[in-house]
Amino acid sequence: MNVVRFAPGVTLVPSSAGVVLLSVFQAATQHFHEDWLVTSGSDSHTTGAHPTGEAFDVSVFAWNPTQVVERYHWLVTMLGPLFYVQYEVPESSVVLALQAIQVVSAKATGPHLHCQRARGTVYPPTTVSA
Ligand SMILES: [Zn+2]
Repeated sequence: MNVVRFAPGVTLVPSSAGVVLLSVFQAATQHFHEDWLVTSGSDSHTTGAHPTGEAFDVSVFAWNPTQVVERYHWLVTMLGPLFYVQYEVPESSVVLALQAIQVVSAKATGPHLHCQRARGTVYPPTTVSA
């Protein structure tokens, strides 16, 4: 059985968006038959969606570039338009396939998949279309 694991120091703040993210991560462990490692939850960030429990970072160190791209697109599909995923790197990748999905951030301590509710939105949405 594969599971979602948490790196030492990761903390969680309960949020509805966080439940969706962790649920999709758990589904991923079953779909890809591997453990996933959350490297940041509500810790390590003072701004954005992390402190409110609405963003998580996932380690990519166990994956080759093809696997990173595959998991990125799988997450985008599974999370849908109310969330977004970015492959965040401290400096540009040398791999073309990774360049296509990367977001270079000098603040990133290493390559990871950043997943959160869509920017500028609240989750769950305050209005529901019937
Ligand atoms: Zn993040």
